Amino acid sequence: MIKFENVTKKFGDVTILDKLNFEVAKNEKVTIIGPSGSGKSTILRILMTLESIDDGIIHVAGKPLWHEYKNAQTVPASEDHLRQMRKEMSMVFQQFNLFPHMTVRRNITEAPIHVHKLSQKEANELADEYLDLVGLSEHADKFPSQLSGGQQQRVAIARALATRPNIMLFDEPTSALDPELVGEVLSVIQRLAEKHDLTMLLVTHEMQFARQISDRICFIDKGNIVEEGPPEEVFTSPKEERTQAFLKTFI
Ligand code: ADP
Ligand code: MG
Repeated sequence: MIKFENVTKKFGDVTILDKLNFEVAKNEKVTIIGPSGSGKSTILRILMTLESIDDGIIHVAGKPLWHEYKNAQTVPASEDHLRQMRKEMSMVFQQFNLFPHMTVRRNITEAPIHVHKLSQKEANELADEYLDLVGLSEHADKFPSQLSGGQQQRVAIARALATRPNIMLFDEPTSALDPELVGEVLSVIQRLAEKHDLTMLLVTHEMQFARQISDRICFIDKGNIVEEGPPEEVFTSPKEERTQAFLKTFI
């Protein structure tokens, strides 16, 4: 569903991702762990087409993301191609990123109406469905500022789901929350992880949670995958010294 082949990303002279190879299978749940500044957010932002790449190729759902084929040639992706590709994915950010001047319901219906061309009625039905899923049905007419951080992040998840993506990306979805609000957001994500028809790529420092929900853990450092495998292996008996050192900081 996601495939990075020799992907290089630089900011100025600094190489952030160095010929990264990385795959996520359809419906697989993968968690990326790693130190701050190792390139985790950059991977997700590249997938969302918020950042471009300098070299390599990325496929999403079998199609090249940053390229397209035209007249038997590979050319840089057009805005139209990127728009089509973005429909495969939704992302939940650390800082909720809700529209502050819109009600909860409108936050959710905005993309379905304007990007996916649903009618107001269809979009409202979707909003109700996903607000119910995240347990916030009674807050539909409130503004984000009237909600707790945990509730805002649950709205952000409902909003991300409302475009019916095949792939959900989460970038440290609980890092900005007070500790007592982390659980309610994780339990929503856990429910999503139980869906068999959703591909999930998650960045988190919640190791216990990652262990429970992931099919695979990828430890990255300095833009490279140092070690990957099933959670029991990576957490219980990490092979690489760098993984061991990183995990020790969480005990
Ligand atoms: P992580 O999410 O693992 O903490 P990031 O992917 O956010 O790491 O960042 C990786 C590196 O790229 C960091 O050193 C960061 O400072 C740098 N970086 C990220 N975004 C930019 C940017 N827009 N301009 C310059 N450097 C950036
Ligand atoms: Mg980050």
